[in-house]
Amino acid sequence: MEDWQKSLQASITTPEHLAEHFPVDIAALKAVVERYPMRITPHYLGLIREPGDPIWRQCVPDLRELADVEQPEDPLAEERLSPVPSVVHRYPDRALFLVSGTCATYCRFCTRKRKVGCAAMRTTMGDVRAGIDYIARNPQIRDVLLSGGDPLLIPDALLQDILERLGRIPHLELVRIGTRVPVTLPERITENLCALLRRAHPLYLNTHFNHPRELTPEAARACARLADAGIPLGNQTVLLRGVNDDPEIMAELLRGLLKIRVRPYYLHHMDLTRGAGHFRTPVKIGIDILEALRGTVSGLAIPHYVIDLPGGKGKVPVGPEYVETLGSEVVARTPGGEQVRFAEVQEY
Ligand SMILES: *Cc1c(COP(=O)(O)O)cnc(C)c1O
Ligand code: SF4
Repeated sequence: MEDWQKSLQASITTPEHLAEHFPVDIAALKAVVERYPMRITPHYLGLIREPGDPIWRQCVPDLRELADVEQPEDPLAEERLSPVPSVVHRYPDRALFLVSGTCATYCRFCTRKRKVGCAAMRTTMGDVRAGIDYIARNPQIRDVLLSGGDPLLIPDALLQDILERLGRIPHLELVRIGTRVPVTLPERITENLCALLRRAHPLYLNTHFNHPRELTPEAARACARLADAGIPLGNQTVLLRGVNDDPEIMAELLRGLLKIRVRPYYLHHMDLTRGAGHFRTPVKIGIDILEALRGTVSGLAIPHYVIDLPGGKGKVPVGPEYVETLGSEVVARTPGGEQVRFAEVQEY
């Protein structure tokens, strides 16, 4: 067994086990964990300083998950957009390929919490084959995003097999991997893994840091290995109430990401996922954070703030708006609030 697999085995999955580290209400946690599983890796557990802190909120079950029954289980209508169980095909040229049903640490705000880590998401070899066949049969797909669950929880040999099969599909121009293991299980990023990933170029990897305290030396080392394998690294952050809904924390996170060669890509507005309503913020909070960033951090650090619209309607970027055209004039404002006007082109 590899070291990362031992770490997974040593992860916390029961309230009793968590109670060995922190004072928790075992009965309450049990009720939540029966519906929405818990797993916290030793690395991620080690980042918790005290109950209720931003790391704790992301990984420790909360009774509010069960109280939330208003929001839809599948806000993005992924099930309806699944031609085969392992593929979500919403945009013509891109497809999500769900190759793994489990994660190293289960995020309490996960948009797929209806099924991630549950029996409903046990991915079989048959599902993976059916997904590859679907992608091979649909030449309009140019870009496949391996997701799940976490694709990097798949053993190396199987991952290599999937990447090789995808590599033989002539119309596929690139593969992306979405993974949180650099944050939650950095020991997974082994030399062997990097060697097999670099054979799958052009390969892009998006990881998922939400708080500056996740930028540990171990995570930095994992990202350095991936970057040294020539893999462009991006980051998707979810805007989370009580975790990162603050301009200074966000700025620290985004600057820290650039320092470890990870380019911020998306800041996701929280989806309307059942069981995760307590993480939602007003849209205005996200817009204000972006306002505060513009002009104060390097442009390279600024992600696109996006809302994945309910009903599977796709992602749209959200403000702040700086520029308006009013007839013959362009009216802009600076991040400092100053108005600037200039003439619009009249003949084009
Ligand atoms: C987000 C998403 C993608 C990828 O979108 P990009 O904007 O290209 O990163 C593809 N398919 C689905 C279903 C998605 O939700
Ligand atoms: S790593 Fe991603 S898929 Fe897994 S629980 Fe977290 S948000 Fe969900």
